[in-house]
Amino acid sequence: MQNNELAQLRIWFNAQKRDLPWRQQASPYAVWISEIMLQQTQVAVVIPYFERWMRLFPTIEALAVAPIEAAIKAWEGLGYYSRVRNLHEGARYILKEHGGLLPIEAEALAKIKGIGPYTVGAIRSFAFNQKAAAVDGNVMRVMTRYFYMEDDLSLPRTVGKIRSLVEKFLPEEEPWTVMEALIELGATVCTKKPKCNLCPVKRKCQAYVQGDPERLPVKSGKVKIEKLYRIVAVVISDEGRYLVKKVEKGKVMSDLYEFPYFETSETSMKLEDILVNIKNELNLSVSYKRHLPVIKHGFTKYSVTLIPAQFECAQAKCNLNYLWLLPEELKQLAFSSGHRRLYSMLIEL
Ligand code: SF4
Repeated sequence: MQNNELAQLRIWFNAQKRDLPWRQQASPYAVWISEIMLQQTQVAVVIPYFERWMRLFPTIEALAVAPIEAAIKAWEGLGYYSRVRNLHEGARYILKEHGGLLPIEAEALAKIKGIGPYTVGAIRSFAFNQKAAAVDGNVMRVMTRYFYMEDDLSLPRTVGKIRSLVEKFLPEEEPWTVMEALIELGATVCTKKPKCNLCPVKRKCQAYVQGDPERLPVKSGKVKIEKLYRIVAVVISDEGRYLVKKVEKGKVMSDLYEFPYFETSETSMKLEDILVNIKNELNLSVSYKRHLPVIKHGFTKYSVTLIPAQFECAQAKCNLNYLWLLPEELKQLAFSSGHRRLYSMLIEL
């Protein structure tokens, strides 16, 4: 991009940028938290989580000394829970190795759990006002269109190529504003269906000139969605306690709570088979109460259908790693998203 376009981009950004909470207090910690929250998650969803998070854990030290369960509870509903586990581990590492302050050097930042090349660039650029490329999906979309690049975005070398390109044209004067403006442009104007008439760099944009910006970027190897069907047993004891389990470490939903469930390939399971599963896997004798509405949700590459049914159990004995908890105790726990919806539905019924 030439100086003229960079100047246009800056003017546009200063006039149009969204008023986001992490822009009001662009401390390195706030930038780190917001950038991790924004991965795979929309801005509107992130804002209330970010504000609550900063109240609960206002500093890296506050996060580092808080129990992981408190961090997971504050993250509940945002999904991709490895992000919060990495944040917590990262905070403990920063407290130990850097006295509770994020380092400025790229090499030191890259050693922190969960901080990849994009986040390194974002922290250096937005928090420390360094000349650093932060190339996310928004920037890649703008760049491939502006330069009419037909390279496959699924290939790591394409990301590297775009990063070098951005590094080359970032100006000496306020490079961080240009960097953030490119991200903003991709997020608000150069979207999947671009609003080119609003774009400050359209005159030199090759895809706009050629009249086919929606063709780009080229991305092969889309992730195949896998469907999962789960029969969920909501078992309630005669004392009104619910049977739940904390998901084991190493699993996608580890440290979150869920009701017991059984995988099936069908959208339904015969009641006798559910009762056999409950007997075999939970070692419980239960009586069927009713079926509950089906819940659909998704995480990573999975599309999950939860098919819940409610059961009563006279003998609330402990089994394996399960817990019998009262509704007010369940309220304190962090559930995986589908099971959180199921819990909310149960208390409303
Ligand atoms: S002109 Fe259109 S395609 Fe080109 S950068 Fe602007 S919004 Fe994107």
